[in-house]
Amino acid sequence: MSIAVVEVNRQAVIHNVEYLKKMAPNSQLVAIIKANAYSHGSEEIAQLLHDKVNYFGVSRFIEAMQLRNNGINTPILALEGFFPHDDLDYFIDFNIQPAIHSKWQIDMLQTSLREDQITTWFKLDTGMHRLGFCPDEAKAEFYRLASCSVVCKPINIMSHFSSADDLTSKQTLKQIELFDQFIDSIDDKSLIGKCSIAASGGILAWPEAQRDVVRQGIALYGVSPFDEPIAELQPAMTFKSELIAVRKHKKGESVGYGQIWCSQQDTLLGVVAMGYGDGYPRNIPENTPVLINGRKVPIVGRVSMDMIVVDLGINSLEKPGDEVIFWGSELPVEEIAKHTGISAYELITRLTSRAKIHYIDKLNYD
Ligand SMILES: *Cc1c(COP(=O)(O)O)cnc(C)c1O
Repeated sequence: MSIAVVEVNRQAVIHNVEYLKKMAPNSQLVAIIKANAYSHGSEEIAQLLHDKVNYFGVSRFIEAMQLRNNGINTPILALEGFFPHDDLDYFIDFNIQPAIHSKWQIDMLQTSLREDQITTWFKLDTGMHRLGFCPDEAKAEFYRLASCSVVCKPINIMSHFSSADDLTSKQTLKQIELFDQFIDSIDDKSLIGKCSIAASGGILAWPEAQRDVVRQGIALYGVSPFDEPIAELQPAMTFKSELIAVRKHKKGESVGYGQIWCSQQDTLLGVVAMGYGDGYPRNIPENTPVLINGRKVPIVGRVSMDMIVVDLGINSLEKPGDEVIFWGSELPVEEIAKHTGISAYELITRLTSRAKIHYIDKLNYD
């Protein structure tokens, strides 16, 4: 069967968790498995990691419930909190711990008549300016949250970096300083629970950001939050498909929609069952490589919905059925990110449901 496959090596994920634990030895771990675990399959990754991490992190209620419905009992951090239409009772019943980032959420908590309490994560905006309370209003809102009878004390506190991937930026240290200032400003220290500010970039590059809890997403999957791959991480995903045709192609002839590429010489073209319908980006520059039989060859012409054409060269011995790797351990997704100008985060997350996930267990000894 010639289909696009997302091959996920579970042992690589385990290796990465162990490595990240070594990097942050005094912190608890949230494994971020939002967006279907960055296309690695959130249910499988949750089954794999539930006894190795302290929390799972997701963005949406529906993602959290999917885990609960699959028997995952690990505490879940809901990074975007509850939404206006969400039912708070479910968060309480299923131990889904919301980030609290807006006044309206505290208003809603104040009206709850439940006796069971909810564990919350007070979200401070230290510079990302997306979600969270600004430092000038945070203290009052924190105390207002603490006064809700439904809210479990102490209250966990979190923030998020905007530029942890930029090792030269002063922003990260400024954000850490604002975070610490806020904690200092709370006189009643007994209200302060676990603190968390670092995601993958923070864990790997800013040791001073490692607090009680670290939140790791992309690094779990062996992908770098920076531009360059990280040697100690093992990429878990290999995105691949197969050649379905090899064709003789004449010098000066174009291929594909819009005739955007013409061959400079007689050659052999390979047609691969892969396209933007599987999540491979449509707009890519010339010479973006794929890997066939250990050899890098360029994609030519326009990526279409179901097919991609590659220039195999006149001496190619490739044949239909040969494996074509779009990224994986031998062709880092970071390299494709550099070619395409699409971040590694987006490349792996944008895969569609047509690309089927296959799990393997392969130990890489280095
Ligand atoms: C997505 C997300 C993370 C994980 O980020 P990575 O860079 O993938 O490690 C952590 N915290 C928050 C709030 C997030 O939204």
